[in-house]
Amino acid sequence: DKTLHIVGGGMAGSEAAWQAARMGVNVVIHEMRPQVGTFAHRTGDLAEMVCSNSFRSDDDEQNAVGLLHWEMRKAGGLIMEMADAHRLPAGGALAVDRDPFARAVTDRLRAHPNVSVETGEITDLPDDGQWIFATGPLTSEKLGQSIARETGSTALAFFDAIAPIVYFDTIDMDKAWMQSRYDKGDTEEERTAYLNCPMDRDQYEAFIDALLAAEKTEFHEGETAQYFDGCLPIEVMAERGRETLRHGPMKPVGLTNPHQPDVKAHAVVQLRRDNALGTLYNIVGFQTKMKYGAQTSVFKMIPGLENAAFARLGGIHRNTFLNSPTLLDAQMRLRARPNIRFAGQITGVEGYVESAAMGLLAGRLAAAELLGKDVPAPPQDSAMGALIHHITGGAEAKTFQPMNVNFGLFRPVDGLKGGRRGRRDRYKAYTDRAKAAWSDWLAQCPLDESEPV
Ligand code: FAD
Repeated sequence: DKTLHIVGGGMAGSEAAWQAARMGVNVVIHEMRPQVGTFAHRTGDLAEMVCSNSFRSDDDEQNAVGLLHWEMRKAGGLIMEMADAHRLPAGGALAVDRDPFARAVTDRLRAHPNVSVETGEITDLPDDGQWIFATGPLTSEKLGQSIARETGSTALAFFDAIAPIVYFDTIDMDKAWMQSRYDKGDTEEERTAYLNCPMDRDQYEAFIDALLAAEKTEFHEGETAQYFDGCLPIEVMAERGRETLRHGPMKPVGLTNPHQPDVKAHAVVQLRRDNALGTLYNIVGFQTKMKYGAQTSVFKMIPGLENAAFARLGGIHRNTFLNSPTLLDAQMRLRARPNIRFAGQITGVEGYVESAAMGLLAGRLAAAELLGKDVPAPPQDSAMGALIHHITGGAEAKTFQPMNVNFGLFRPVDGLKGGRRGRRDRYKAYTDRAKAAWSDWLAQCPLDESEPV
């Protein structure tokens, strides 16, 4: 049977279906809506945008998500084509007229001779056939339970609790220093696993005041506001007592500041390396529901982070996602059951664009497998490749949390450092290199519009 089954007709499933269909494979999309709904979707259309209507920056020279747009357009992506066709004026961002966009994606897919759509919830992981599961952050409960049975419950999360992630090269190392608590670890990798930012009493008190005063976001209707042990938002910890953080994630013990060896810090903010490249560090224990604007101003009060740039800000949401670094192979297949791929947000990427991008790759890889074609691994220097590499291997499995595309996921380019001007040159170098790598890859795996196999 040469049919590709795709479960979930969201951003990822729709793009996966389009790519596979255009490679000449028969595709069945299994979408539960409108028969079974979620708390965020309103319609029965494919590719419904559940919240903001933005695909974020469209700048393909200075912005990693803009680069992802470019790569998807270049690959004949349906989601980008329809987003462009239903674009709303929004400066440098790509804002989308959501209802006509979703209807257009639905119509295009339904009109393709290789695609059919079946309405209904899939509740199990099938033993046979080629499948892509792209059921998203709001994967239905029954299917979530089946996935958890297969993967083990610790490898599937139902909430994300995201601590902010900072670009290493924007941290002021004249104030911060590298050291693991009590100098644990012998290898270079372990010694560079943690970064520390010290606070004196006044700085700590001012920081607590700012946390308490900051504007917070509410849970969406239908999302439960229950917090889990071990991932309380920092502002909730601060509400429980002004000293709570100093005895929790900001405890100063077991650390010595080499810049001021005689001064005992009142509190220490720790950051942990977030990727093997060492370009990203997350602020340990700083998951938060503060609004984005508030987060940037509050976190810049931390000594060493005054000029920090954030690869992503913190958040806590209902979000079903796999521990992909341990569960998926480089082709996005479940290691234990290679007839099943995952794509989209459930693989641990975050956002409409990233999810569609992972759908694009999964669709192509699955179709190639069905057609018996060899496809080289997506190049790590492209945005697509950087993202898939991160989720299937580059990210730290133990602390894996969903990720947006950002330049911190890219292998550094040499000889281009320093200052604002330097950053522009570096981003341009990343995007030039990515475009060349992606174009090369696409040339090796062309789409063809042949008849169904
Ligand atoms: P989805 O687009 O959610 O598609 C999954 C599909 O699978 C859905 O159509 C669902 O009905 C279907 N499905 C689920 N279970 C089953 C099953 N068992 N059988 C059959 N079908 C099933 N991203 C942004 O970029 N900007 C935002 O502002 C934003 N806000 C968000 C707000 C909320 C409340 C949520 C939950 C998410 C938000 N996201 C946002 C994330 C965004 O929704 C996802 O990144 C994107 O939609 C993921 O694409 P996907 O294809 O993986 O999942």
